[in-house]
Amino acid sequence: MKINKIIFIGTVTIFYLKIGFAFSGPHWNHEEQAHWGAIEDTSQTEVPLMYPYAECSIGKHQSPIDFAAAEINNEKKLNELRIWYDIDIAPIFFNSGHGVQVNTSLDYRGEIEVGEESYPLIQFHFHEPSEHVVGDKKFDAELHYVHVREDGKILVLAVVIEEGKESTTFQTILDNTPGNGGDQNENTGIKIDPASLLPSSYHHRGDFFSITGSLTTPPCSEGVAWYVLPEPITISTAQLEQLKRFYTSNARQPQDLNGRVVLTK
Ligand SMILES: [Zn+2]
Repeated sequence: MKINKIIFIGTVTIFYLKIGFAFSGPHWNHEEQAHWGAIEDTSQTEVPLMYPYAECSIGKHQSPIDFAAAEINNEKKLNELRIWYDIDIAPIFFNSGHGVQVNTSLDYRGEIEVGEESYPLIQFHFHEPSEHVVGDKKFDAELHYVHVREDGKILVLAVVIEEGKESTTFQTILDNTPGNGGDQNENTGIKIDPASLLPSSYHHRGDFFSITGSLTTPPCSEGVAWYVLPEPITISTAQLEQLKRFYTSNARQPQDLNGRVVLTK
């Protein structure tokens, strides 16, 4: 029973993160992010359920954060992070209503390993500008690779993006994402290698920052393991403009650390 329940929660979480738009409770937008916690679900009558995004306001371990403001500890021994992304032969190009997103296909096997644990990659999406502040600055954009384990535990790998050389993979994503929120484009015959969006020097392992945080969009659920790579990738000026035509300013402001320490290796 307990295992069934855990699998059920995991499945719902995966469903939520893949199909966010259709399953996202009351409407929200990035302009009103300071008030996400107070948004009411008018279909509910129980008070705790009336505020489905309360964690956005009352949570103490929220994301993103400003790394320049954080205490960084490089003494603690961390598990190796190993990225095993593979080519997805049937990715789904999804306009989530809040961002440009790619959902991996059901039998996709790409994953991240942290120590003995593995986390399947279920989707990746983009924010403009960056959400995390890395090395004292906001970047032009940020890529989030979202991994969800069967028990519902979430790991997000973040890569900051700056203007520079164009990215072929990113162009494929832009050109195949539908214009309307909630729409998806599947069975395109196009293959995507998520690893092709990683920094070039990052071959399966490398340096990272690690911190416990939350989803950066409602419901802002906590317990998310964040790994942020310090090295940016690039997209061209024209690609950044094309991204902005989908969504601009779809980034949450840095949140209070509340005593959290960033670990790094
Ligand atoms: Zn994100």
